[in-house]
Amino acid sequence: SLPRPWLTSYEPGVPQDLAPSSRTLYRLLEDAATRYPNREALQFLGQGTTFRELLKRVRRFAKALQRSGVQQGDRVAIMLPNCPQFVVAFYGTLLAGAVVVNTSPLYTAAELEHQLSDSGSETLVILDSLYPRYAEVADKVPVKRVLVSRIQDELPFPKNLLFPIKALKEGTLASDSFKRNPRAVPMRFVTKLQDPDPVSVPITADDVALLQYTGGTTGVPKGAMLTHRNLVANAEQCRSWMVGLQEGREITMAAIPFFHVYGMTVAMNLSMLIGATLVLVPNARDIKMVLDEISRTRATIFPGVPTLYNAINNHPDTAAHDLTTIRACISGSAPLMQDTARTFREITQGANLVEGYGLTETSPVTHVNPITGEQKEGSIGLPLPGVDALIMDDAGQPVPTGEVGELWVAGPMVMKGYWNMPDETAKVLREYAGKTWLLTGDMATMDEQGFFRIVDRKKELIIAGGHNIYPREVEEVLTSHPAVLEAAAVGLPDPYRGETVHAVVALKPGMQATEKEIIAYCRTLLSAYKAPRSVEFRDELPKTAVGKTLRRQLAAEARERLKKE
Ligand code: AMP
Repeated sequence: SLPRPWLTSYEPGVPQDLAPSSRTLYRLLEDAATRYPNREALQFLGQGTTFRELLKRVRRFAKALQRSGVQQGDRVAIMLPNCPQFVVAFYGTLLAGAVVVNTSPLYTAAELEHQLSDSGSETLVILDSLYPRYAEVADKVPVKRVLVSRIQDELPFPKNLLFPIKALKEGTLASDSFKRNPRAVPMRFVTKLQDPDPVSVPITADDVALLQYTGGTTGVPKGAMLTHRNLVANAEQCRSWMVGLQEGREITMAAIPFFHVYGMTVAMNLSMLIGATLVLVPNARDIKMVLDEISRTRATIFPGVPTLYNAINNHPDTAAHDLTTIRACISGSAPLMQDTARTFREITQGANLVEGYGLTETSPVTHVNPITGEQKEGSIGLPLPGVDALIMDDAGQPVPTGEVGELWVAGPMVMKGYWNMPDETAKVLREYAGKTWLLTGDMATMDEQGFFRIVDRKKELIIAGGHNIYPREVEEVLTSHPAVLEAAAVGLPDPYRGETVHAVVALKPGMQATEKEIIAYCRTLLSAYKAPRSVEFRDELPKTAVGKTLRRQLAAEARERLKKE
């Protein structure tokens, strides 16, 4: 077996290995409802929902899906912010034996179209205010039924989640646009639902639970197939790491979105696993609401991304709020600046804010700094129990300790593969020493004690404000501009957002365009966070011998200029 040098560094109380259970994800909720029926599972804008009540709604939702024709293995897309409906739709879909497809409420119509088509989603659960975006692509996607929800309709539930077409015709909804959708099917049964028991479907832990879209290592958007076992294992791995956790007593501030794999596992699934109350905040950028909710609910666990902690550190209302109930925070998705961590610890009077690392393909967490033991600044920490990690050279051999190579990880949280993309899957999953490894595309090092450090992103992902941006996607939009010949998108350091998108553009001969015009053009086709903030014009872009644009060189040059300015 493989040497695991980090094992000696585990803190007391953390198991050295972990046998993941074979439960399905829905069972986490069912088990919590058995153990803590009267405890609040959800807190949303002052409304509480017990585990027993949540379970009941989830079962009704599953039944409703089944009655409307959703079969085992069908894809159900969810386009909702953090709200009770998300939690119900998520576990209800799984209970019905279907596969959740997480979509972001920030998607443009084009992004949504790609994802609904690629996943073959025939069912969509969507917030009414987002409906117009779906309406734009309704004729081009396989969606047959749309379940529309209003955030203010939280109770009673699920009556207001599932609007029968009949009711739509009678004009019950604020937004008119979905009355015209010919593909929506009537769901009259829901309001009359007497029997909340869904037909039990023979799903196993190895069935796919989720298609989580990611640019992966090559930039082409693809659906990572995560199984029930993958997701349950990762929640269990995170739990084992959090020494001192009190089952049935914690309160989780869920500001990071559930439609991203990080919020889904570390906030939502982990809370179900340990019977924690989830405090739902629909918009993480509403820092005032995050602060109010933390102090009102006396939240104890607060997973986040560096931008969020940083925003709290710098918000004028922070000083007036009591954040001292927070004990444990895992920061993921991008490098955590030490200054951010220090200030946050001061504000909370000692919350353990530790940096972790992961990626969509690993459900997502693979590394975290010890919660109470030694932490290393600038390090992503140690592999979680049950995670194997290697630093490998390009020939697929381990590099000596301390040297840079690609990070490979193995364990029960590694995805099954990419949806309908065997060639892409083959590029990132590899057999070695009797295990299946995921090639992360991140360059990293490991020190003598087994602490890992991310050196660079091999795959050139740009992360702005915790959002992933794949340069290629931005470049495709840039080059679709009539005056643009070629383009590259690179990340520039930004003290607030981590990174911002910078575009380098070469115009077609004789054509003209200004920086302002190009930015405005991109904003019409891309979510705001993906659009470039600055544009630089060149006669041509530098390329490799085979004609690949030298993005890294462009980024380095732009960074240099930025430093001098
Ligand atoms: P995603 O698949 O969207 O979750 O993005 C995963 C990528 O985010 C990883 O491959 C890393 O490049 C990056 N990432 C995540 N956590 C960290 C971290 N703590 N430090 C640096 N990069 C990170």
